[in-house]
Amino acid sequence: MTLGEALAAARGRIDRLDARLLLQTVSGCTHADLLARPETPLLGPAAEQFLAWVDRRAGGEPLAYLVGEAEFRGRVFQVSPDVLIPRPETEILIDLAVDRSKTLKNPRLLDLGTGSGIVAISLALECPAAELVAVDLSPAAISVARNNAGRLGARVGFVESDWFSALAGQKFDLIVSNPPYVADGDPHLALNGLPFEPQMALTDGEPGGNGLACIRRIVGEAPAYLNAGGWLLFEHGYDQGEASRNLLRATGFQSAFTHPDLAGIDRVSGGQL
Ligand code: GLN
Repeated sequence: MTLGEALAAARGRIDRLDARLLLQTVSGCTHADLLARPETPLLGPAAEQFLAWVDRRAGGEPLAYLVGEAEFRGRVFQVSPDVLIPRPETEILIDLAVDRSKTLKNPRLLDLGTGSGIVAISLALECPAAELVAVDLSPAAISVARNNAGRLGARVGFVESDWFSALAGQKFDLIVSNPPYVADGDPHLALNGLPFEPQMALTDGEPGGNGLACIRRIVGEAPAYLNAGGWLLFEHGYDQGEASRNLLRATGFQSAFTHPDLAGIDRVSGGQL
């Protein structure tokens, strides 16, 4: 099979760009190679791998899980089905956290539910004066995140912990989180490859709940782990801004705010202790 024949075999079954990226990955060829030399033969095992990936992609499996990596904020992170695939809207959380940590001297930062580590690692690399701690309940996620930190040269202390449970006595200046916030039973969970992602990273699984169980717990427990004047910032769903600000105010946070993402949708809320 040639490169051109491989692309033809994927046509109509999966997105053209996805087909091209999968073929580039199995063959080591560039986009220019595919265009200029479609008659180049694809080695047997590479052709088999490509056709197997096309089948899996056609079955809805996200591209990032097939190739094992995803780009976020200009960096390549390894991902596996143990972690959520990075979403572009999470950049807002990082932008806001970078802005705040730049006003602090040698701040201690905590990332709750780090997953692949994108938030903690981006902050460690972009705020060199900050000390980063990142926790996740899933040991498999911790190992993906640790690997990403090593590959990208970020200094982050990873801890297996159910939110704050393993952090007794520790204090931070800024706590950030992209927690699970999709309501249990939300039809969105059945779409766009979400069934292939770890459900514990997407939803709190509270039957009949509104997706706020983890946010409620994080906001409620955060004050005990924040220094005076410390900030809490977290990502949430399009309709959770007001509830998030109310939770923050009821817990004693000042200046509760909500920030939209690039699509103009309420996405990150926060407050100062
Ligand atoms: N924004 C993600 C989605 O809608 C959910 C991420 C999360 O739950 N933290 O797919």
